[in-house]
Amino acid sequence: MTKVRVRFAPSPTGALHIGGVRTALYNYLFAKKCGGDMLLRIEDTDSARFVPGAEAYIIESLNWLGIKIDEGVGVGGSHAPYRQSERKEIYLQYVNQLLDGGLAYKAFDTPEQLEVKRTEIKNFQYDASTRGQMINSLTLPKKELEKRIADGEPFVVRIKIEPDEDITVHDLIRGDVTINSSIVDDKVLYKSSDGLPTYHMANIVDDHLMEISHVIRGEEWLPSAPLHVLLYKYLGWENSMPQFAHLPLLLKPEGNGKLSKRDGDKLGFPVFPLDWNDPKSGEKSSGYREAGYFPEAVVNFLALLGWHPGGEQELFSLQELIDSFSLDRVSKSGAKFDYEKAKWFNHKYLQAKTNEEVAALFLNEHPFTDNSQAFIAKVVTVVGMVKERVNFVSELWEQTSFFFEAPTTYDEKTVKKRWKEDSPALMQELITVLEGIEDFSVSNSEEVVMNWITQKEYNTGAVMNAFRLAVVGEGKGPHMFDITSLIGKEETITRLKRAIETIK
Ligand code: GLU
Repeated sequence: MTKVRVRFAPSPTGALHIGGVRTALYNYLFAKKCGGDMLLRIEDTDSARFVPGAEAYIIESLNWLGIKIDEGVGVGGSHAPYRQSERKEIYLQYVNQLLDGGLAYKAFDTPEQLEVKRTEIKNFQYDASTRGQMINSLTLPKKELEKRIADGEPFVVRIKIEPDEDITVHDLIRGDVTINSSIVDDKVLYKSSDGLPTYHMANIVDDHLMEISHVIRGEEWLPSAPLHVLLYKYLGWENSMPQFAHLPLLLKPEGNGKLSKRDGDKLGFPVFPLDWNDPKSGEKSSGYREAGYFPEAVVNFLALLGWHPGGEQELFSLQELIDSFSLDRVSKSGAKFDYEKAKWFNHKYLQAKTNEEVAALFLNEHPFTDNSQAFIAKVVTVVGMVKERVNFVSELWEQTSFFFEAPTTYDEKTVKKRWKEDSPALMQELITVLEGIEDFSVSNSEEVVMNWITQKEYNTGAVMNAFRLAVVGEGKGPHMFDITSLIGKEETITRLKRAIETIK
C-alpha cells in the first residue's frame, strides 16, 4: 500500500468559501484516518485572478479550525516549492514532452479569431472536428510555423484529444462516471504569454510529482476529471493515477442551487471562516470566527454537511470525526446549508465548557475594572446561571448586565403588565421584610419572603413580578433569589427604592 497523501489546492482568488473549508476538512479527516499526510498547495497560475492576502487568509483559516498541514506552503517539505507560480520550469518540461509526443499542439488563434469562429459555427468547440480550420501547428505550413515562433508570436498549447473514445473516471463517492471524449475540447494547457501552465496541466503534474494518492475536491471539478484522466495517460502516469472523490455541493438553505455569498448576506449568516476585506473589490465579508463561533463547533457542523457515520450522534470532537470518517459515507446529493443548526452546534459547545472557561471568555470580551477573586467568582456563578440561554459568548452581557449594573430604565411593556397600583406599597413592605433578613442566602431569603406572602395572603405572582421588574428592569432572568443573593441585600433594597420612586 502506498502512503495516503492528499492535498488541499485552493486558488488565492479571494476569501476561502465555507464549501472550500469543508473540502479541506474532508481531506484532513481522510488523511488522518488513514495515517497519511495533508498537503497545502497554492494554485496561483491564473495571475489575472490573483488576490493579495488570500493565501495568508487560507492559512489562517485552516489554523483557526485546527486543520493541520503536514507539508506545503507555510510548512515546507521535500516536494517544495508548493506555490505553482514558483514551479514554472517544472511544468514546461512536461508541456514539451506532450508537444514532442504529438499529444499537444501550439495554437495561434487570437481571441478575435476565436470569436469569429464562435459566431460562424454553432456551439463551437476547439476539438478534432474544428482544429483543422484553425491556426495551429497542425495546420500551418512548416515555414510559417517556424517564422511565427521565431517572431515570438504568442501561442497557447492545447491538448490533442482523440474523438469518440470513452473516458471513465473512477470516483469513490459516485462510482464510475463515463463520458465520450468528443464532448471534451482541446483545452489550453499552457500560455506562452506568461510562461505559465493552466490549472489542468499544473494540477496534474503536481499531483503526480507530489505523490498524491487521493484527489478529494468539490463536485464543480467533476467535469474536468475526464480531461485529467486523459492527461495522466498522455503523460505516461496512468499507473500512479490518484483516486478521485468529488464532494457534493453545499446548497442554499432552501435547497435550490449552490450556496453563495449573497445567500449569506441576505439571510444574515457568514459563508466564510474569517472576516475578509477584499483588496480588489473592496467588498467586506463576515466570518464565523468574528461572529463568535468556536472553531470546534464550525468543524463539527461542516463535517456533517454531506457526511454522517450513521447512528444518532451529532456532537463529535475532531478526533472522533477522524476516527469515524470514511468516504463511502459521503452523500452523492447536495447538502442543504442549515444556519440554525450552526447556532445549535455553537450552543452545545458553549454548554460543554465549564463555567470558569465561559467566564474567562466573557471577561475577555467584556472587561470589568474589578479583578478581585471574589468578583471573578461572582462572574463564574452568573454565567453558570444563564449560559443555557445563549448560543454565543457575545450574548452573555445582555443576559447578565443586571447582575453588575442596576437598571436605569424599566421595560415599558413589563411595567404595563406587572406594575399595578398596589405595587409600590407591596414593594415598600417587601423592603421591610428584606431588611429583617440576616442570612441573605438563596434558600433563607426565599423562605422568609414566601412565608410573608403566605401569611399576608398576597398573590405570589403579583409580588414576584413587581420584584423582578424593580431588580432586573424587565421580566427576564434566572430565579429571583439567585439574583438577589448575588447582588446582596443592600443593592436589592436600593433597587426596590429606586423602582418605587421612578416607575409611574
Ligand atoms: N485550484 C482548484 C481550486 O481552486 C483546485 C481544484 C482541485 O482540487 O483539483 O479549487
